[in-house]
Amino acid sequence: MKIATVVGARPQFIKAAVVSHELRKRHQEILIHTGQHFDYNMSEQFFRELDIPDPDYNLGISGGTHGQMTGRMLAAIEEVLIKEQPDWVLVYGDTNSTLAAALAAAKLHIPVCHVEAGARVHNMTNPEELNRICTDHVSALLLASTGSGYDEMANEGLQERGRIVGDPMYDAFVEYSNKLQPAEITLKLLTGGTAGVPEEYYYLTCHREENTNDDKDLLEIFNAAERLDAPTVYPVHPRNKERAVRLQKQYQFSKMILTEPVGYLESACLVKNAKKIVTDSGGLQREAFFAKKKCVTILNFVCWPETMVDNRNELSRPLADEIVEKLQHVQKIDDAYQPFGDGHSAIKIVKALEEAQKERTEK
Ligand code: UDP
Repeated sequence: MKIATVVGARPQFIKAAVVSHELRKRHQEILIHTGQHFDYNMSEQFFRELDIPDPDYNLGISGGTHGQMTGRMLAAIEEVLIKEQPDWVLVYGDTNSTLAAALAAAKLHIPVCHVEAGARVHNMTNPEELNRICTDHVSALLLASTGSGYDEMANEGLQERGRIVGDPMYDAFVEYSNKLQPAEITLKLLTGGTAGVPEEYYYLTCHREENTNDDKDLLEIFNAAERLDAPTVYPVHPRNKERAVRLQKQYQFSKMILTEPVGYLESACLVKNAKKIVTDSGGLQREAFFAKKKCVTILNFVCWPETMVDNRNELSRPLADEIVEKLQHVQKIDDAYQPFGDGHSAIKIVKALEEAQKERTEK
């Protein structure tokens, strides 16, 4: 089988790594990188650390409005698909790259397999929600990471095309989160120089459009960090860099450690060894859960309902008092509760594709 995988953003590289390794044991994979994330530490570093094969195509498309980016990707991916004529197009998650690839393939009658299907936040102000819904509706094979994803598909009448395969982010976490120890990590500080990882620290990531429109929200988050009993390590997404550095200079926070984005091995290690996590990332919420770390999510909608049990992950508004208070809530861990699969979802994804291909050829 010939599969064209389309990736463009950091979380997609991580999922594609584990699936790609499995897929290439039996099938031909064409890897298309849209270019949505392009800095070395948002892209190439992941390919190197996770041993992802070099992309066959790098479309170099990033920036612009959502419409411009998605439109340019649609045209460029279509051209590659016409040339390569794959049996399937494989897409991950909810970015503009996901939607563009799904649309390009569906218009050419090439079946699309969507990994992380059925994820919904039920909030249309979240820019990724539209990508999730549209991608699912044009896909032929919908692979949900969890039961709630499958239920969401059923609510939209899509369950016949769907199944639950577990979460490839969990596969990656199982495979890679012990590769480094904190002492092996050197943080490249945005304020100059380098630093080691403190013995005790909180881990923060924050980059969503919802939290980066003005200074106010980040200032509240930094003020919360200032009141915690250990420093906060914050690898800053390029979208937030200017603002984070400026606020740090202006207010001289004593407990914020602002660093360049770290690679996945570093990030997984930082999750595993943190006291607690504060984030607005869908991936980090799940990794906090995998590592059994208390998580406070700065969003006004739930991304992964499975993580929200027993105080393990709580939503907070971007308000210092609320963040600090929620971080103190004690979580309860039930080890038997494993809603993200068994760490072998890549195998299930490849099997699902093989079965779907068999059904198509027998029709
Ligand atoms: N991550 C990383 N380096 C960083 C920050 C995050 O490798 O400096 C990883 C993190 O561990 C998680 C993924 O990136 O696996 C989440 O990606 P992101 O927050 O960009 O996307 P989202 O999860 O919001 O879709």
